[in-house]
Amino acid sequence: MTILQIPSPARAPAMKEAAPAFLPGLDREGLAAAIAPHLANPKQARMRAGQIFRWIYHAGVQDFSAMTNIARELRETLASHFSLQRPQIVSRQVASDGVRKWLLRSAEGIEFETVFIPDVARYGALCVSSQVGCTLTCSFCHTGTQKLVRNLSTAEILGQIMVARDDLDDWGSPAEARAITNVVFMGMGEPLYNLDHVAEAIDILADGEGISIGRRRVTVSTAGVAPRIPELGTRTNAMLAISLHATRDDLRDDLVPLNRKYPIAELLESIRAYPGLSNARRVTFEYVMLRGVNDSLAEARALVKLLAGIPAKINLIPFNPWPGAPFLCSDRAQIEAFADIVNRAGYAAPIRKPRGRDILAACGQLRSESVKARASARRAMPAERPSSPPGP
Ligand code: SAH
Repeated sequence: MTILQIPSPARAPAMKEAAPAFLPGLDREGLAAAIAPHLANPKQARMRAGQIFRWIYHAGVQDFSAMTNIARELRETLASHFSLQRPQIVSRQVASDGVRKWLLRSAEGIEFETVFIPDVARYGALCVSSQVGCTLTCSFCHTGTQKLVRNLSTAEILGQIMVARDDLDDWGSPAEARAITNVVFMGMGEPLYNLDHVAEAIDILADGEGISIGRRRVTVSTAGVAPRIPELGTRTNAMLAISLHATRDDLRDDLVPLNRKYPIAELLESIRAYPGLSNARRVTFEYVMLRGVNDSLAEARALVKLLAGIPAKINLIPFNPWPGAPFLCSDRAQIEAFADIVNRAGYAAPIRKPRGRDILAACGQLRSESVKARASARRAMPAERPSSPPGP
């Protein structure tokens, strides 16, 4: 398969100590508070913040000089105190099927990935990360093998969408259909362990004067942090996806170790409490197809029984391999027979088409190369201690 390597844009200058504060990532109130001390008339802070909000999140400008409804003097003052910079792009890859993956770097050198999945016709999803690495260690997921873990900030979450919009020329009100119509929190990390920043990012994403990707077009996927599931709904009104992968606790304990803390019955109870569920707003259950592990037809029947009464659709995900993975993907015929049983019980059960596999951009394959680079640097310098991941 062809991998198109495109040189990344010129690197942003290294941050100096007195670096300006970043505005992208702030909501209107945050913007108003940041700029108020620099205004001749601080009473105008809200009005100015509204203008800047539109420039940042609707027009996507990266330079204060483009903010033409703000007087030049004020633009210059703002430019000397604040930055509109995105996270730095470390690398950008385009797969043979059009999937794009960006490896991004934060100001202090932490790296995370974002994937754009162009769909057919009018849809395109951006798969964003909520953490660097992940603490959950699901046995089939590559991200879980990454040691370094930290929550991404609201600015870093939004920065992923902004970088993708820059690159896809997707700002403003495009004459053609938008490239990014949906955002899915299905990249690296567990979004419910970073709910404050995820919720803030969704508020800004959904704002009609800004990025304007509505809450029904935002899906948050969780491995099952049961106590925070209803709260996710109350705070964000986003669509819910659950990484289920097994119908029995003994198997799910192995595949998704978080199950030992929040077993299936408790998880389902919290899902039933998700506000606003209906046939028009279904929960997506993700089910990775692992050969000989969770793909029997008896398990398909057990799945249907388990979900009875929950407005649901089931996304069957062919397992995406990664180097050293201890699983194989189920045979196509088995996945189809499994889907058939679920379908006949009245649930939509699409089989997810693997995308971007040739650039390791498919589900569960995200794991930044930089961590490997750091690991080899550590081997060369044994005195340096590896960073250990914080607990959830
Ligand atoms: N922590 C969240 C967000 C990650 S979403 C969650 O668990 O839902 C990524 C989705 O891809 C999850 O459903 C995950 O279980 C699935 N996945 C992980 N590794 C995979 C792999 N190798 N092949 C296919 N799907 C995988």
